[in-house]
Amino acid sequence: LSFEEMKFPRAIIAALALKKIEKPTPIQIQGIPTILSGRDIIGIAFTGSGKTLVFILPLVMFCLEQETKMPFIKNEGPYGLIICPSRELAKQTHDIIKHFTSHLIKSGFPELRCVLAIGGVPVGESLDLISRGVHIMVATPGRLMDMLDKKMVKLDICRYLVMDEADRMIDMGFEEDVRTIFSFFKGQRQTLLFSATMPKKIQNFARSALVRPITINV
Ligand code: AMP
Repeated sequence: LSFEEMKFPRAIIAALALKKIEKPTPIQIQGIPTILSGRDIIGIAFTGSGKTLVFILPLVMFCLEQETKMPFIKNEGPYGLIICPSRELAKQTHDIIKHFTSHLIKSGFPELRCVLAIGGVPVGESLDLISRGVHIMVATPGRLMDMLDKKMVKLDICRYLVMDEADRMIDMGFEEDVRTIFSFFKGQRQTLLFSATMPKKIQNFARSALVRPITINV
């Protein structure tokens, strides 16, 4: 299965090519079509497997579809939330998303906005973007909890939730925060959990947070 066969627009294929990405990795071949079909997944994968694009590409497609059907007015979103255990990982993930969204704009697709919500970045910067409407939010648990508590952001229309490096997240003691974040969701959501390891703790967590997940182990 190629990226073309996955029906990604030419602008995405071109943006991938700029990063020397031509053929999907095993987790991408298995994960992307499964996510596009709407299922929850547990991805057991290390950094280097290509896992990041597994959750980014379907999310970008979902946002494009939504934005084309009904453009944001303001102060709406996000449609998708990506929770990361560290600021560095959140920043990297945000940069990758920006790479794709800026390419899409140049090719005439609607603007998709992605906000980074992490400690160390002034909240005001995130709020400016949120007030214009954001399609995607990449966050660390602490900063996101704070913003949710202060009602600076809502997850009412958020339909796509990613937990990246879930094992690290739980090890760092974020389980309670993450569960609280989940409670801010309204309505149905698709949940994707990525973890390098699958100890009992994560299995139990996944069982309570995901619906009939498909496990992908590469
Ligand atoms: P990740 O496992 O998501 O952290 O990705 C690790 C690295 O692999 C990143 O530098 C990606 O740009 C790169 N990468 C992701 N997918 C592919 C692919 N299909 N072909 C070549 N490189 C890739």
